[in-house]
Parts: sequence; C-alpha cells; structure tokens
Amino acid sequence: GHGANPILKVDHVTKKFGELVAVNDLSFTVEKGQIFGIAGPNGAGKSTVYNLITGFYPFDGRIEFDGRTISGLQPHRIAQLGISRTFQIPQTFPSLTVEKSISVGNRFGAQGRFDPAYVEEIIRFLDMQAIRHQPTGQLNLLGKKKLMMGAALATRPKILMLDEPMAGSNANEIKDLMAFIRRINTDMGVTIIIIEHFMKVLTELTETLLIIETGGEICCGDPVAVTCDPRVIECYLGD
Ligand code: ADP
Ligand code: MG
Repeated sequence: GHGANPILKVDHVTKKFGELVAVNDLSFTVEKGQIFGIAGPNGAGKSTVYNLITGFYPFDGRIEFDGRTISGLQPHRIAQLGISRTFQIPQTFPSLTVEKSISVGNRFGAQGRFDPAYVEEIIRFLDMQAIRHQPTGQLNLLGKKKLMMGAALATRPKILMLDEPMAGSNANEIKDLMAFIRRINTDMGVTIIIIEHFMKVLTELTETLLIIETGGEICCGDPVAVTCDPRVIECYLGD
C-alpha cells in the first residue's frame, strides 16, 4: 500500500562533501514489507544515501526509522535498531567458515546476544548446510553474495539495504539472486531497499522505484511508469 505503514522516512536530506553536493534535498518514504528500488547514473549519490541512513556521515535534514528519528545516532545503534546493509563489492573474511561468518553477523545484531538457533535458520535459508565448514574464500561469486546477505540477515534486521547486488553476475546468477531476494522479503518478512543498474531487475522486483541524479529526485513511483518517464530516459542517455 501507499503511505499506509511507513518504516523509513528520508526527509529533506542534503549531504555535501566540500563543494560537492552528493545528496540534494532528497525525500522518500519506504513502506513496511515492500521492496523499494533506487537507480540513477554513476555518481548520482545512491551509495551515499545508504551511508547516511546507516549513520556513517553527518548530514542536513532528518531520517526516521520505525517511528523514531535516527539522524545523529552512531552506526552501531542504527544497526541494533534493525537496519542492515551489504556493500557493492562482496566483503567476506576469506579464511572464516560459512558458519562463523553468519555467527559474526548474528553477534552484531539487534538481539544483543548470540542466538545459535537463528544462525542455524540462516544457514538452512542459504541452503549451505553441506558447506558450513568451508572457508568463504572458496565460495564462487554467487555464494559470496548470498553469504553476505545471510550475514546481514543474521543481525535480524527490519530493513535490508542491498547495494548493486547483481553487479558482475551472469543471466543465470541474476535469476537466482532475484528469487533469493524475493524469499528474503516474503519468507523472512524483511523490508528491502535495492540499488541496482539493471532496469529489468528493478521492474520485476520492486513495488516503488526512485530515480536520482546529482543527488536529487528525478522521478518516484510505480517502476514500470518510472522507467517509461521521459525525464528518466533522458538522464540514462546522458550516463
Ligand atoms: P553512486 O553510488 O550513485 O554511484 P556515490 O554516492 O558513491 O554515487 O557518490 C556520489 C558523489 O559523492 C560522487 O561524486 C562521489 O565522488 C562523491 N562522494 C561519495 N563519497 C564521498 C566521500 N566520502 N568524500 C568525498 N566525495 C564523496
Ligand atoms: Mg554506488
């Protein structure tokens, strides 16, 4: 639904790095339970928006999560409240086993204590029982990506933010990852924000799509309508 049950409100947020305006008076609302997409040309400010939501930089404006203002809170507090993310480049500790990596994620989580049963649930969700003792460095790209999402899920987030999860993947891997992301949303009940370049992925996966350019909104709404919008087509031609 629209406007019925907001979980995240970004309210007139601006971020400057010196002279550069990376995010420019940006506002948007994510509804509980939805998959919300963000796209835009390189350097548009997409990853910076994630860094602001997760508390890595100070900024102007306000961000509200689950009914409370989170602007100004430390990153670990925001993580504890239930916001988790993955990074553009898969970041795993190559010598750590699958099981350990999920356990480490769990220790950083909202629970505030270790929950072995939940770690087990995540390993099953990843279908990685048979390779639980393998070092993550031995996983292929798809495996590494799923593991990263699993470690993020092990914190028991209310929102999972994915930064270009399809990057470097072939058509089959993209199909697999799309199904996996849908399962995170439906089976685990986690609200998802996804930054992605592939429009086909965004139109198939998301309920709402926000396009940004030079840190500001170009268009936001139904993903099919948004991708047909002349302003969006123009900003992509300039990419
Ligand atoms: P996107 O993820 O959409 O490709 P980014 O959010 O990474 O874009 O970057 C937006 C703009 O902000 C770019 O011009 C980038 O160079 C700049 N930027 C991002 N992070 C920093 C930083 N820590 N210091 C200075 N400039 C930055
Ligand atoms: Mg980026």
